[in-house]
Amino acid sequence: PTMAHSKALLVLENFIGGKFVPCSSYIDSYNPSTGNVYCRVPDSGKEEVEAAVRAAKDAFPVWSSKSPLERSQILNKLADLIEHDLEAFAQAESKDQGKTITFARTVDIPRAVHNFRFFASSILHHVTECTEMPTMGCVHYTSRAPVGVAGLISPWNLPLYLLTWKIAPAIACGNTVVAKPSEMTSVTAWMMCKLLEKAGVPPGVVNVVFGTGAKAGEALVCHPDVPLISFTGSTLTAQRITEKSAPHCKRLSLELGGKNPAIIFDDADLSQCIPTTVRSSFANQGEICLCTSRIFVQRGIYSEFLKRFVEEAKKWKTGNPSDPTISVGALISKEHLEKVRNYVKKAQAEGARVLCGEGVDPLALPPGNQKGYFMLPTVIAEVKDESCCMQEEIFGPVTCVVAFDTEEEVIKRANGVKYGLAATVWSSNVGRVHRVAHKLQSGLVWTNCWLVRDLNLPFGGMKASGIGREGAKDSYEFFTEVKTITIKH
Ligand code: NAD
Repeated sequence: PTMAHSKALLVLENFIGGKFVPCSSYIDSYNPSTGNVYCRVPDSGKEEVEAAVRAAKDAFPVWSSKSPLERSQILNKLADLIEHDLEAFAQAESKDQGKTITFARTVDIPRAVHNFRFFASSILHHVTECTEMPTMGCVHYTSRAPVGVAGLISPWNLPLYLLTWKIAPAIACGNTVVAKPSEMTSVTAWMMCKLLEKAGVPPGVVNVVFGTGAKAGEALVCHPDVPLISFTGSTLTAQRITEKSAPHCKRLSLELGGKNPAIIFDDADLSQCIPTTVRSSFANQGEICLCTSRIFVQRGIYSEFLKRFVEEAKKWKTGNPSDPTISVGALISKEHLEKVRNYVKKAQAEGARVLCGEGVDPLALPPGNQKGYFMLPTVIAEVKDESCCMQEEIFGPVTCVVAFDTEEEVIKRANGVKYGLAATVWSSNVGRVHRVAHKLQSGLVWTNCWLVRDLNLPFGGMKASGIGREGAKDSYEFFTEVKTITIKH
């Protein structure tokens, strides 16, 4: 492309009924690593959502009556097409979100491909239930059918990864969908739309409406012909969605925020624990719902842990996301960067110690990235449990380290937040690992590891971290309606 071309803004369009359609107004989307507007995203509202829901409704009868095998083949084809363009998708995700190219190449896009392959396979293996009642001469069995038009709303931190984690099971089960990605990270969803026809996805099966939560998102949530909403995002938005969908009695799946503890006992293998806990704190700039943000270390190893942890954290270089040697890219927006920085300031004001990162170490950025939204991995110690830094989701490269004495005490403190998404436990005592895992109020507990997922098993949070679970069986149950049929012979 010429210079003029490469500087021109990328303009996205909605994808409705198998066609790209322009919108009457647009929102600016920023490149977080430069601070420049580089893309314009449709600012859709009721009208666009209405058109998309109509297209999805029209496509439902044919799509829902296809055999699971036919749908499976289409999903596999789509996975192949995304995989074929993996590098282009990874570049786009990194530019749009600020994440490192390495993370986009090795996590985001491969997982999006895997989401389609996984549900293409798992949809072929579900078995429904059957019971007999010989004395009544009856057999009962259950049958499952797709629900209809599914509304899918996703956040900005893992854009294509989380959107496809919803689209894949929804359409595998025979539903049609209207998806609304985050207005801050819409590009890869738009790129995926370009592949749908070639994959054999019929027009109207997948519709994507771009825009803000308040306008496009809410129109989708309030639409009477959308009986189920699968949402991943913040707890605050989930409350609003719950209120707005209540008059329609919609089926909701809510995957929300976390304030995830790591519990490190004095018999932990620190050579494994320290690099993994640095990764669980700072991967994707700390912008993963599963990131560790409260580290409880048993008193006997506290000083050694802190010293080695800070040394390891300092190895994570912050800078241009397209540089493959960089571990920490840019945060999503200027507002978000300010919010995360303010937490560090509040902790300092309360008397906590910032051991490295924000306000302590210099941040050197290449000339092209001076206006980007960057922050160094930041470790804070001596924070009180009741401090906002230990209670609220920060969602940035900030982690707090505190000491504990006993198992009983640490379970109580780890559970002492409103969230309950994920936890990690580090110990070489297998009995202790089981005991602690059972007592933690957390939808996921990783012991001696982090972020190792089998998509067959349930994913989701307790307390303010969500309602419902996603996974092979759980997503199948969410995206289908079950019926019990009784036959008397
Ligand atoms: P957010 O709640 O601000 O936005 C999420 C999505 O909801 C966006 O598409 C947004 O446009 C839309 N939205 C906003 N208001 C809406 C409304 N009134 N009606 C309908 N839709 C609306 O969240 P975010 O800032 O994009 O993402 C970060 C949050 O997501 C964090 O809290 C993080 O923990 C959470 N998250 C959870 C998981 C999980 O699986 N549990 C995964 C990733 C992120």
